[in-house]
This record gives sequence, C-alpha cells and structure tokens, in this order.
Amino acid sequence: MLDVYNQTADHPISYAVGYDISCKNHYYLIMDLLEIADQKMYQDKRYKKEQMAKKPQEFCRNRLAESISTESLKEKLFTILNNSNGEKKYAFLMTDVSNFHLINDYWGYETGTNILNFILKKMELFPQTLFVNRYHSDIFVAVIDITGAEHTAVKKRIIESNKQTTKEVLAAYPVNYLSLNTGIYYLENMKIPGEEIISHSNIVRIKAKDKLCGVCEYTREIALAEQKRADTIHSFKEALGKKEFQIYFQPKISGRKQKIASAEILVRWQRANGDLWFPDSFLPILEETGEIEALDYYVYETAFQWLADRREKGLKLLPLSLNVSPVHFRKIHTFTEKVSHLIQKYEIPSQYLIFEITESTYIHNIEAVNHMIRFFHEKNIRISMDDFGSGYSSLNTLKDILFDEVKIDKKFLSDKLTENGKIVLQEIFHLLKRTNKFIVCEGVETKEMVDFLVAEGCDELQGYYYYKPMEMAKFEQLIG
Ligand code: C2E
Ligand code: CA
Ligand code: CA
Repeated sequence: MLDVYNQTADHPISYAVGYDISCKNHYYLIMDLLEIADQKMYQDKRYKKEQMAKKPQEFCRNRLAESISTESLKEKLFTILNNSNGEKKYAFLMTDVSNFHLINDYWGYETGTNILNFILKKMELFPQTLFVNRYHSDIFVAVIDITGAEHTAVKKRIIESNKQTTKEVLAAYPVNYLSLNTGIYYLENMKIPGEEIISHSNIVRIKAKDKLCGVCEYTREIALAEQKRADTIHSFKEALGKKEFQIYFQPKISGRKQKIASAEILVRWQRANGDLWFPDSFLPILEETGEIEALDYYVYETAFQWLADRREKGLKLLPLSLNVSPVHFRKIHTFTEKVSHLIQKYEIPSQYLIFEITESTYIHNIEAVNHMIRFFHEKNIRISMDDFGSGYSSLNTLKDILFDEVKIDKKFLSDKLTENGKIVLQEIFHLLKRTNKFIVCEGVETKEMVDFLVAEGCDELQGYYYYKPMEMAKFEQLIG
C-alpha cells in the first residue's frame, strides 16, 4: 500500500520491514527472533537507502548470513535441552568447508558468500532440524532431532546430505572442488554445559577432515583420549615440580663380549594415583605443546646427576644414551648451550654420553641436526641415529650422515626373521660397516635374533631378550 501511495505522493513515506519465522523445524528463542528481525529490518533500511543513491546494478550483492555468537548459541542449547522432556533425542552438528579461504581467494568474496548462504539453506532443509545457524567464518552449527534413530543411520543421513549439498554447489557455482566436514555430538546428557558441547563437536569437526566420508562422531574413545590430553597438559608442570617423572634404564649388550656395555635412558611418568604412564602415551602431547623441552632437560639432568653421584662414590660408570626430541631443532642454540651447561655443571666426561636423534627428526631438520652433531663432535660426544630404516630416510642421505652410531629400528626384528629379512639386514650392516658406523639393534627378543646379529657383526644389542627398561635401583643392583 505504501509503495502504491509513494508512486504519486509529493512526500513519499520511507519504511523498512524485517522478519524471521520460528517454527517447529527452525526454532528460535523469542529474544533471538526479535534480534534477527531487527537486524533484517536495518538491513532492509540500508538496502533501500543504497537503492535510492546508487544505480540498480551496483547493489545486487548478497549479504552473508548472520552468525550466532557463542553466548547466544550456549543459551539456545540450554533452552533446547532444558525444554526436552527426556523423550526426545538430539544431536549437535558442526560443519565446515575444507579450505574455504581458497574459494574466497580464487573465486572472489561474492561467490564465497553465495556458497555459504546456499549451504546454510540446504542445512535448514535437513529433516528434523530444530535449529541451524552460521557460527563463525565458514562454520555452521545445527541441532537435529534424532529420536528413534540409530547413530549409524544418523551418520549415514548426514554423509548423504553433505554429498548432495556438495553436488548441488558444484553444479550451481563455478568452483570445481568442495568438501564438507561434519562433527556429530550426541546430546545424551541433558545437563552438559553448552561450551562443552561446542568444544567436543569442534574436535570431531576437525577430525572429520581426516575421514574419507567427512563425518566424525564424538565417541567414548575420543572422550577418553581428550580427557587424557587435558589431564596431561594441565598436570605436567606440577608433576615436573613434584618429580613424578622417573628415568628407567634399558641395558645395551656388547655383541662380542655379551656384557652390559651401556644403557638407554627412557622416561616414565609415575602418576600421583599410582599409575605408571609410558612415554608413547604422553610424549606426543608434550611435543605438541612444546613442554617436552623442559622434560628432556629434566631427564638429562637426572641422568647426569646419577653419573656424577656414582663417580663420587667410586662406582663403575657406563655410557648413557639420551633421546633428543625434535622440538629442540627449532632452537638449536638454546639446546647446545643448555646441554653444555649441564655437562659442565656435573663434570661429565664426554665418553659417557650418546645422544639419540631419530631418523625422522634428521630428515626433517638435516641442517640443524648436522649443526648439532658438529657441536657435539667438538666435545667428543657421540650421536646415534635412532629408528634407522623406519621409513623416512632414503639411501642417498646415507652418504652424508655424520652420525657415529646407527640404531636399526625394531621393526626389522618384529615377528620371525625371514630369509629376505636376513638378507636386507646383512646388506645394511655391510653398508654401515664400510662407512664406519657403530651398529646397534633394538627390539632383540629371541635367541635366534641374537645369534644372527652377533654373527653378522652387530656392535650392541638392546631388547627384552636381555632386559626390559628398569628402575634406577634395579639397574644399580644389576651393574653393581
Ligand atoms: P625408542 O627411543 O625407540 O626406545 C625404545 C623403545 O622400545 C622403548 O619404549 C623400549 O621400552 C622399547 N623396547 C625395548 N626393547 C624392546 C623389545 O625387545 N621389544 C619391543 N617390542 N620393544 C622394546 P618406551 O620406553 O615406551 O619409549 C618409547 C619412545 O619414547 C622411545 O622410543 C623414545 O622415542 C621416546 N622416549 C622415551 N624416553 C624419552 C625421553 O626422555 N625423551 C624423549 N625425547 N623421548 C623419549
Ligand atoms: Ca631411543
Ligand atoms: Ca628406537
């Protein structure tokens, strides 16, 4: 009516309208509904003003769907869960587009916006959807009603829906690649706080990128792994202060004399509750956070202290092999300085130290590792290449390596030694001998392995056939 009036009026009346709809399948809190309607009203107002001022072709641009704030999302989740009478089952979904910034960069912002709005519209049409919103950047959140459906069926429906959306985007827009990832969090516990729901689903959204189907559910295993991760990260500093970390010794036996020649130092975490944690379960997490740096120095200092104490008591000394985490190669000068300082502090003679650097660390940091090897060589300290042959090096790197010792990866000895396995080991030994490397084999578990390795000239052997890693006191008893 106003438009008709304005066509002939001397004083046209301006107006703007904003609305949104809350219905069973697309549910809003009343405050959010008002806010969105209000935003849309202003959007309409701006649009009309621009329309008055500019030529028609310049204002055909789409606006990106509004995003929901974390606070509003938490409130919404709270309301949905609080209003549930227990008969309904829900799932919270978090979806994103792989490498969305590349679409923006290559096809332009407008195409990017259109694609995001299209995906949102498709998500709104997903059956039994209670609520859908853009969360931030290219991430969408949704709550769906899954009452009576098996989890496998829910997952299958989401995979199919993502496939269909992808297909339609590829057909409607110029892009030639699109991939959607969805994390599913089943809302089984109605009391769970909103931020936990958001954080758990975010974890599986990221994990979904590694899945062929692009969808990942938050399972009990993931929950336990996350708990352990959080526990490790939050308790590490305190545990280090409380000396919960212990060094274990695993003897290395000389090939010819069959006597203990040295030992590898392996760390263990003696948790306050009595559990003993093995390095593979916590080192990767500490490597990610960088805190392994402090742990390595702690291990070195404890090992040096042990050597210094024995020397003071006039007891027999043995060379110790120490593992070097890859994080040190990011700041190699700090590492060499810190280790030199510890060596001086405890007055450790160089022949009692061997640093082990894994083949993978070497391949990813060749220059820094070589720098470190040169530094330690000046101090007459030996360096060993750990896990040799585990899959990272190629034969041409062998001609340049500065390592003194090569520790053949235990995978070569896993299972029974086959004829082919023996030939490969013989030829590796041959190559290493000719380039003057000291050969150590780890993971030696049977007499048959010992006989073969000794006959082939392996310099030192380490493995359960002889000894498992043991506590300091046991090792001291063993070597006297
Ligand atoms: P790694 O350096 O390859 O150490 C050898 C691992 O093989 C040890 O596991 C040892 O217990 C195990 N092992 C020894 N003999 C046998 C055998 O006969 N059969 C089998 N199947 N396994 C054997 P562990 O102690 O669990 O250590 C795992 C890894 O954690 C080590 O692998 C090393 O990479 C890392 N690590 C341990 N302590 C430290 C540390 O203080 N600092 C750093 N940066 N890494 C450490
Ligand atoms: Ca090692
Ligand atoms: Ca190893």
